Amino acid sequence: MQTGPKNLRSLSSSQIEDYFVSIDQPTFRARQVEEWLWQKQATSFDEMTNIPLAVRSQLQKDFVINLLTVAEEQVSNDGTVKCAIKLHDGMVVEAVLIPVKDRMTACISSQVGCSLSCAFCATGRLKRMRNLEPDEIFDQVVAIKAMAKKYFNKPLSNIVYMGMGEPLLNYNNVVTSIYRITNGVGLGMASKRITVSTAGIDKMILKLANDKVKFRLALSLHAANDEKRSKIMPINDQNTLDSLAVSLKTFHEKTGNRVTFEYIIFKDFNDEIADAKELVAFCEKVPGRVNIIEYNPIDGGEYEQADPKKVDAFANYLERNGVVVNIRRSRGKDIDAACGQLANKNEAAYA
Ligand code: SF4
Repeated sequence: MQTGPKNLRSLSSSQIEDYFVSIDQPTFRARQVEEWLWQKQATSFDEMTNIPLAVRSQLQKDFVINLLTVAEEQVSNDGTVKCAIKLHDGMVVEAVLIPVKDRMTACISSQVGCSLSCAFCATGRLKRMRNLEPDEIFDQVVAIKAMAKKYFNKPLSNIVYMGMGEPLLNYNNVVTSIYRITNGVGLGMASKRITVSTAGIDKMILKLANDKVKFRLALSLHAANDEKRSKIMPINDQNTLDSLAVSLKTFHEKTGNRVTFEYIIFKDFNDEIADAKELVAFCEKVPGRVNIIEYNPIDGGEYEQADPKKVDAFANYLERNGVVVNIRRSRGKDIDAACGQLANKNEAAYA
């Protein structure tokens, strides 16, 4: 919890207007300040040159602009750039640039650590410390955008909320960050280029549906069988496949957005044709496409990468049964690129 001056970027537009009214300033100053903060990404009040000096000094007394730094940068042979991001309080999260063909995708974190303990995930071994603020999520995008420019001289094209944490357990801050990323007084990116990935929390998926969000949703499915899914994802005990199918269908109906099912394929666990059959049956209940993801094993983990031949047979079965499927080869194998690995190595920062 931050003590002392308030984080200026935690305020909504109307709260900033209220502040200016309280110090006898015109409300248009709110728009000016927001342009500096979110569009020009000012890192200090001194940069806000169209704000009178006395007002800038007052802002300086009343607020801070929290900043993050890229503490470590690792570049893989395949071009993946993984960053350890140090937050204003010293905690560390991860953000990754994934360059594939014409796409530059930022994979960003929504929480420090995670409470869901998925068996295959490095982040799940770190306990959840706190939610990220909207500005901390936004700034990861800005940092990865700079990496895309630096290494590839290309603009950022996509964002996935697939790094550390469960985005739907930090609902308001995630939705606010997307508002700032898509807003004209912000990064102006298209909502359809943004995907929020969830481990599957029914009531929050229904909230997304009722809020009629415009961004895309991905479900980390990994098994279309409750017994298997609960084994690797304890969250499945309270959010079973049947109930997820109902909430995802509602999401699809209310937003018009199709869901993507992420399926990490593990050796001798979920790589048989019988598993593919169950997946086809699930896809018949909820319209969606499947991304099969090659597993990047974590140190001391129980799961291994599936045989590529089995992965192909699995994908072929899905295709033959009318499921749209993509295979995502594992990225950044030569660096610490499985979710949470880089932050695990910075664990001292959590002490
Ligand atoms: S896979 Fe996602 S939801 Fe599961 S423990 Fe890792 S970060 Fe949390």
